[in-house]
Amino acid sequence: MKATVALQHGPGSPFSLEPVELSRPAADEVVVRMAGVGVCHTDWTAAAGTVPLPTPFVLGHEGAGTVTAVGPGVNSLAIGDQVVLSFDACRICPQCTAGHPAYCVLSPALNYSGMRPDGTTTMSQEGRPVHGSWFGQSSFGTHALASVRNAVKIPSLPEGLSLDILGPLGCGVLTGAGTVMNVLRPRPGQSIAVFGLGTVGLATVMAAAVAGCRPIIGIDPNPRRRRVADDLGCTHTLDPDATDDLDWALAEITGAGADFTVDTVGSDTVVRQALQALRTPGVCATLGLQSMENDVTIDQGHLLMGRTLTGVIEGDADPRILVPRLIDLWRQGRFPFDRLVRRYPFHRIEDAVEAGRTGTVVKPVLVFD
Ligand SMILES: [Zn+2]
Ligand SMILES: [Zn+2]
Repeated sequence: MKATVALQHGPGSPFSLEPVELSRPAADEVVVRMAGVGVCHTDWTAAAGTVPLPTPFVLGHEGAGTVTAVGPGVNSLAIGDQVVLSFDACRICPQCTAGHPAYCVLSPALNYSGMRPDGTTTMSQEGRPVHGSWFGQSSFGTHALASVRNAVKIPSLPEGLSLDILGPLGCGVLTGAGTVMNVLRPRPGQSIAVFGLGTVGLATVMAAAVAGCRPIIGIDPNPRRRRVADDLGCTHTLDPDATDDLDWALAEITGAGADFTVDTVGSDTVVRQALQALRTPGVCATLGLQSMENDVTIDQGHLLMGRTLTGVIEGDADPRILVPRLIDLWRQGRFPFDRLVRRYPFHRIEDAVEAGRTGTVVKPVLVFD
């Protein structure tokens, strides 16, 4: 079948809306007509060439839509089902069966190779392969091929929440929320400082509020983001560029340092700050992805004080569990992630990516007619 996708002919090249032929779904695959797809940091860094992908390729990994066709072996999904597309995982390796699909041993092959594990592509153009399977979906298009493993069925949508903005629950929002709910697991009254208030940071803030953390401190130079963070549960926000001594400012708010810190930036400076802001002991989670290799220098003396520095991908979440849980929290009015979103028509993809990259919009979502 035909689909219109945002094709990239090489690293750094513009998004070009072009028709492609979507292959017939394999035994475990489904075709999803996209309602909306979020634009995530990993998309624009990959578009710029930090992830080596065979060309041409199609990005997009926060899709949400409706199943329009199923492969011959699919029985857990049916035509008409509403789904959120998340990252792909094999579901049978030791990590997957232990409940940690984000650490699936086949993750690179399933998410970043540009093709199915058997080497075929899900799309073609005039007989030539078009590389997709980005996070098992490549959802910058009117239709995408996903699998039964990463298409999370949404049984019922609460009134007031529409399918087109649910895609970010599959990556950016899941990453922040999962880090709090699955990894840090704070007790009510424990303190947390969140460095960087993009989608991941603000999802961290919302999840910390759900967990009853106090204080919740958000750190970001962007005043618009700090205002959103204030509304979403931060008890304090700080501008790192206007704060003479950030350590001191944080210590003044937390007493002896924060029980938990979360770095959503991944730079040398911020990782060090996040580690330094901890009390003894305390846990710092680093989530910010800069590139595949990212040397950071830390003071080992900070770790010796019983502190932990841990890295987290995709919130160590199982999307089948966490995505429905986040929708349920939205229903209760406790997780207003829709406040991060601004919709853009699909053909304005360049504007949407630019708005996300420069931080004028927290979470641009491309929507389809
Ligand atoms: Zn696996
Ligand atoms: Zn992402």
